[in-house]
Amino acid sequence: MAKDAKTIEEKQYLVRYKADSKSHLTVLDFDICATKCPDKICTVFCPGEVYKWEKEGRMFVGYEGCHECGSCRIGCPHQNIKWEYPKGGHGIIFRLA
Ligand code: SF4
Ligand code: SF4
Repeated sequence: MAKDAKTIEEKQYLVRYKADSKSHLTVLDFDICATKCPDKICTVFCPGEVYKWEKEGRMFVGYEGCHECGSCRIGCPHQNIKWEYPKGGHGIIFRLA
């Protein structure tokens, strides 16, 4: 199964998460998201669909599903995301077989 995984859904099946109780991702200023970032590009490029813009004008950060790819660390046009690795022993677990 692992080496034959082709679709995103099949590849997603190969990862597991051990979530910390505290987020390793922080959006620093929600006002910047609301007023200076019309495209909310983090909601598009994040492979884990971690960032979701809510109609109340807040960013929901589902850190538990983070793939630790680091894209949001450099992809936010306003450097508005503080990115750290999850605490030791937590985060994504890749199953290779
Ligand atoms: S890309 Fe950065 S500024 Fe834009 S919505 Fe996401 S966190 Fe906010
Ligand atoms: S590190 Fe990658 S998967 Fe995790 S929140 Fe940032 S863009 Fe999404």
